[in-house]
Amino acid sequence: MSCGDTDLKCTRCRLSRSRTQVVPGTGPCDARVVFIGEAPGKDEDLKGEPFVGRAGKILDAALVEAGVRRDQVYIVNLVKCRPPGNRRPRKDEVSACSRFLESELRQISPVAVCALGQTVASELCGTRDKMSALAGRAIDCSLFGMEVRLFVNYHPAACLYQRKNLAKFKKGIKASLSAAGF
Ligand code: URA
Repeated sequence: MSCGDTDLKCTRCRLSRSRTQVVPGTGPCDARVVFIGEAPGKDEDLKGEPFVGRAGKILDAALVEAGVRRDQVYIVNLVKCRPPGNRRPRKDEVSACSRFLESELRQISPVAVCALGQTVASELCGTRDKMSALAGRAIDCSLFGMEVRLFVNYHPAACLYQRKNLAKFKKGIKASLSAAGF
């Protein structure tokens, strides 16, 4: 289930020319917590769903360990089309896409929001701090005019090769779930 009004035929930025398909968020429209990643990768671009590749397995495992099913939370990306070669999304791509994230967040009105990775935290809340300083912290920030508690966490892909991040990642996932009443 996808919420908001993401345009599946969107051509607002250059990513529309190289994508296979738009990847909208998934989860219930009354989810208490929203996890926001950076952008779809190859697997997501092919399947049309966020976090279904290797990073997604790490996120799923952390949710299961916390006793929560993936279909109880909303999972979405900052930009909805895969950047070529998995490069970081550019500022103009993030702003071209932000209306869709905004519409999802407005409809869901979550209790807690979790930013997965430094790029997401910085795009959403303007923080320039490094992830080592940010991970596990909750920042009160205004998202599209909505006051939210933003839990900042490692991107799950950062746990693939840096296993020392994994324990912190799981702890951060638990903190955001617990703030949302799980
Ligand atoms: N990384 C992301 O940020 N999002 C995905 O959907 C997959 C990998």
